[in-house]
Amino acid sequence: MDQLSLDQFQDRFHSEEVCADYLFQMKWPNGFVCPKCSHRHFYRITTRRLPLYECAECHHQASLTVDTIMEGSRTTLQKWFTAIFLSSRPAPGINAVQLKEIIQVTYKTSWLILHKIRRAMSTSDASHLLSGMVQVHDACYGHPYNIYHQTHPKEHFLLVGTSLNEQKQPTYIKMKLLMESPREKFIPTAEKKSFAERYIEAENSEVEYITQRLKPRRLKMGYPYFKRASQWINDTFHGIGVRHLQAYLDEFCYRINQALEQAPIFQGLIQLCATTKKANYWKITGRRRKNKKSNLMQCVTQN
Ligand SMILES: [Zn+2]
Repeated sequence: MDQLSLDQFQDRFHSEEVCADYLFQMKWPNGFVCPKCSHRHFYRITTRRLPLYECAECHHQASLTVDTIMEGSRTTLQKWFTAIFLSSRPAPGINAVQLKEIIQVTYKTSWLILHKIRRAMSTSDASHLLSGMVQVHDACYGHPYNIYHQTHPKEHFLLVGTSLNEQKQPTYIKMKLLMESPREKFIPTAEKKSFAERYIEAENSEVEYITQRLKPRRLKMGYPYFKRASQWINDTFHGIGVRHLQAYLDEFCYRINQALEQAPIFQGLIQLCATTKKANYWKITGRRRKNKKSNLMQCVTQN
């Protein structure tokens, strides 16, 4: 599937029914399991836009999209599938303006779909810890490092953690923004400690920190990936503010990690989307429901 062109992909998933059958396999890879009573036999009800699966034991009706990132969405499965396919492809990737044109939805819908997919990617990363030989180094997104000690407001510091194999080649990468933006250009000890606690397996890991910014970049094993991530964010999204930067870094790392593991990217991503609960608009934007109109206006000005 990863080798298909967009046209070939859309030919393969040419109807809602084909998409529904594929989603069924991704959601219940070992066959239907009732979410209420775990019974395995079901009746298929086809009177609605998408089929419902009624448990033969307790008669609970499960929809295909319940407990997936697509739950409650009025967008068709074909459009979701196209968005997931385009998100699974490496650079140049897809932004909300391009997706809106391809699947013919509003900008807000397209923006939300891409953020829901990113949420699933972030969730997947949260369940994976770096382990073994791990290197952690600093990096800075946004404004190029200047020579002054004080940080620039457009510099966003992050730590790049890389699991390495015996040949010192990366096998898994995380790029995480610091909890607080430092005033001066060094990575505080509390940030390294927090990174280790949250992202590195405590036992059986050997961690090397290279967090002084003047250390040669060639020693920083994740740096070439960070450069690519930076370039991709700038080229495809024309730069990203700090509010959503972490989600874009997680998206980039997700594809890289799938490629490093030689895993099928589209299938892995759709399975992830079919097993990750949805996040709503308010959760994604981190805003409250109040001032709904102004929130929408702020949201749609961002990629
Ligand atoms: Zn049941």
